[in-house]
Amino acid sequence: MLKIIEFTAERKNNESILLMWTLSPYAQNSIFKIFRALNDADDFIEIMRGKASSYLDTDTKALESPQVQYKITCGNVESLVLKPYNVGDPYLLGLASDYLWQLKNVKNGTRCFAYCKAEAEQDCSECYDSVSKKRTKSTCSLCDGSGKITGYKGPVEMYVNFMKTIEIVDSTGDIEKKETAIQCWSANIPTLSRGDIIGRNNDKRYIISRIPEYVRMNSRSNDEQFVVMQKFILQELARPNMVFDLEDVE
Ligand SMILES: [Zn+2]
Repeated sequence: MLKIIEFTAERKNNESILLMWTLSPYAQNSIFKIFRALNDADDFIEIMRGKASSYLDTDTKALESPQVQYKITCGNVESLVLKPYNVGDPYLLGLASDYLWQLKNVKNGTRCFAYCKAEAEQDCSECYDSVSKKRTKSTCSLCDGSGKITGYKGPVEMYVNFMKTIEIVDSTGDIEKKETAIQCWSANIPTLSRGDIIGRNNDKRYIISRIPEYVRMNSRSNDEQFVVMQKFILQELARPNMVFDLEDVE
């Protein structure tokens, strides 16, 4: 049965609440509707519809309302109702806003989009038989050979500072391979993980091949740590690759 899962809403800085979700089983090109209520007594009002499985809410009324809540629908499937998770205190939210402002205005931030790897997967239509739950071919042009197609949440607009090209050593195979990569940093929208995809200029696709280095700070509003910025390494992906089918931010 189709379900909306991995639904999160988090206040990321002073200007935005980031929502993300995905479908289980994962399916691309579904149409989602996003609904928002400003408080417990309010009706849910549709604020957006489209194929993206992410939404950045920058509405002032929403940001100022302590009871703001969201739900997502896909056809007649409905998510649970979610209030934003507020980890950062006002100082940390301000810091995150400042990093993003710097990237947009003074630090050569390049507008990109991110697709975050979902836990939900889809059976590969080329090499996997969903009934017998077995792979039917030893090589596959569609997936990485696992029989599963990775799901992604997004796209999320982000600004990336491409710092410099470096050489990294890939030691996953028998022979150590030297590969080029790009050292980057960004603010916290979205907080990236290994396996996430970054798109740039409509034609380039990169993968976060290593765990990013987060700058996290203790929040005064709770015991948790809040990510204000992150440094990461990007490796460019070559076609053909499924990730080139992921659509850009409009
Ligand atoms: Zn496959």
